[in-house]
Amino acid sequence: MKKSVQLIISLLFVTSIVCFAQKKNAQPKNIILLIGDGMGASQVYAGIASSKSTLNIERSQFIGFHKNQASDSFITDSAAGATAFSAGEKTFNGAIGVDKDKKSIPTILEIAEQKGLATGLVATCSITHATPGSFIAHQPSRGMVEEIAADFLNTDVDVFIGGGRKHFTERKDGRNLIDDLKAKNYQIAQSIEEVEKIKSGKLAGFLADVEQPKMSEGRGDQLLISTKTALNILKQNKKGFFLMVEGSQIDWGGHANDTQYIVNEMLDFDKAIGEAFDFADKDGNTLVIITADHETGGFSINGLKDGQVEGKFTTKSHTGVMIPVYAYGKGAEQFSGIYFNNDIFHKMKKAFGF
Ligand SMILES: [Zn+2]
Repeated sequence: MKKSVQLIISLLFVTSIVCFAQKKNAQPKNIILLIGDGMGASQVYAGIASSKSTLNIERSQFIGFHKNQASDSFITDSAAGATAFSAGEKTFNGAIGVDKDKKSIPTILEIAEQKGLATGLVATCSITHATPGSFIAHQPSRGMVEEIAADFLNTDVDVFIGGGRKHFTERKDGRNLIDDLKAKNYQIAQSIEEVEKIKSGKLAGFLADVEQPKMSEGRGDQLLISTKTALNILKQNKKGFFLMVEGSQIDWGGHANDTQYIVNEMLDFDKAIGEAFDFADKDGNTLVIITADHETGGFSINGLKDGQVEGKFTTKSHTGVMIPVYAYGKGAEQFSGIYFNNDIFHKMKKAFGF
């Protein structure tokens, strides 16, 4: 009798240890969130259909959808869309890291930083633009780019690479934020060649005065190199990291109703996806999530002629369709299903165990 009770108790003990270990093991140390701005399912498929080989995004393991409406509009913009991902609340169009009442709300990047993780932002547009800005700044309007730039100094983000140099240097308040960044031990890189040379420490990379060129205008592998550089620096933090990478100009191709612009930017973004997936394969402790804030252009594919997608558009603006979420690596299964855009924040927070 006594022996069987002892046996049950020890079995319970072992089971609880196993459960605890499994729970711990299911948690990724690192999260890479890749946002293709304006990238609906048609934009992704335009890239796939016009490519001669399979794309990296096709390696995704779990797929879900998010409902992306803003708090004040059926059609979201990138600011409300990114704030839903970054801070977990649906808010009004134009809002950067603030809720419906314009109150600052902590972002996943800020929470990760508080917990001792490394953090980074990479974009193919000005780093103060709506999507990257919403992960680090708190302003009631996306147009307040100088205020958004100043908010970068309120954090200890380890790496940020994008355009928007001018918003840090040519300012109404006369401050030169690059001097302030240097005082905070940032290494300043003024070109992609300089970015590539930085192997550790803190990095602020400025690749344009305002916006980087399109792929078709010779941007080259800036996004891939920036992503590689950021991963290489961030992975040195033993506690883990959070990195957001934006393929910013897929959206601009949609606004321009320019199919080839969309395809070029999609294929460029896919290279960063491949880098993130390869990192997750090697590391074994990384979750990769790929999604968009919204679709742009009401883009559709009406045919394929000589390997070229025949695109049609319903608008020069954003649309309100559900947006696919592609997940890979540790904890990826949490991203199947249909949920709200702001659930992505809560899923990431839970995955980190915060
Ligand atoms: Zn847009």
